[in-house]
Amino acid sequence: MAGETYRRCPECNHLNLNSDYCEQCGALININLRRMQEREKLAEDKEKEKQLEKPNAVSQYFKKKMQHPNLFIRIPAKALYSVWVVVMAIGAFLAFVFSYFTV
Ligand SMILES: [Zn+2]
Repeated sequence: MAGETYRRCPECNHLNLNSDYCEQCGALININLRRMQEREKLAEDKEKEKQLEKPNAVSQYFKKKMQHPNLFIRIPAKALYSVWVVVMAIGAFLAFVFSYFTV
């Protein structure tokens, strides 16, 4: 009949009528809902991974030294860090140029 959907539970093999969840064990049996949940979980995991990503070792080193209590370490660290940022910017620009024109 129209509007009636039978779904077999993959966990307990119980046959359910017009239900997204198994009547016997409560498992999610609507495949569309399940896929949606999996997609959301994957996106969440990716977001978490992004937050855990650390800046590269040189940047971390300079950031630590820039908070050093000794002034004679802090000042050269700031100067070298600005040089490092410029080097990274030029490197990123060159990488962009090469990738843009070699495709
Ligand atoms: Zn079940």
